[in-house]
Amino acid sequence: MSEEKVIVANKGLVRADFAFWVGQYLDKFYDGLENKKIMGNKCPKCGDVFVPPRKICGQCNVVIPLEENWVDLPDTGILKNFTITPYRINDRSSRKAKDWIIGIVQIDGSNTSIIYRLLNMEPKDVKIGMKVKIEWNENTKGDPSDIKGFIKV
Ligand SMILES: [Zn+2]
Repeated sequence: MSEEKVIVANKGLVRADFAFWVGQYLDKFYDGLENKKIMGNKCPKCGDVFVPPRKICGQCNVVIPLEENWVDLPDTGILKNFTITPYRINDRSSRKAKDWIIGIVQIDGSNTSIIYRLLNMEPKDVKIGMKVKIEWNENTKGDPSDIKGFIKV
């Protein structure tokens, strides 16, 4: 009969950095973010505007050409919904002291929504349908973190 022993025990998190290509449409979108600009693209058939941009309109099953149909959009939008949570997307193992408010925001002129933190707001101040504006990170990198979150207009 063999005896089982634990030789090494190490408690902690394993972190792995990785890189992947997001594709031509998101690549262009992230280039826009780096310059603090929101770019959507428009379905040539139904006219819906997507943020982030898409290659295919799911409704019409039409390919949106990469070199056309881009739309410059403002950095304002409407809060469509929100949730309040103590969990962090990049640290789900622990609760933090303060709740975060996460909003679903439809950028003005688009037909889709993006999800970001609502900043400088108390839960009682948050109302579905309220106007919000992007708070940009000072140093942009061309990735989703260029948008810090949304603030009240
Ligand atoms: Zn369409």
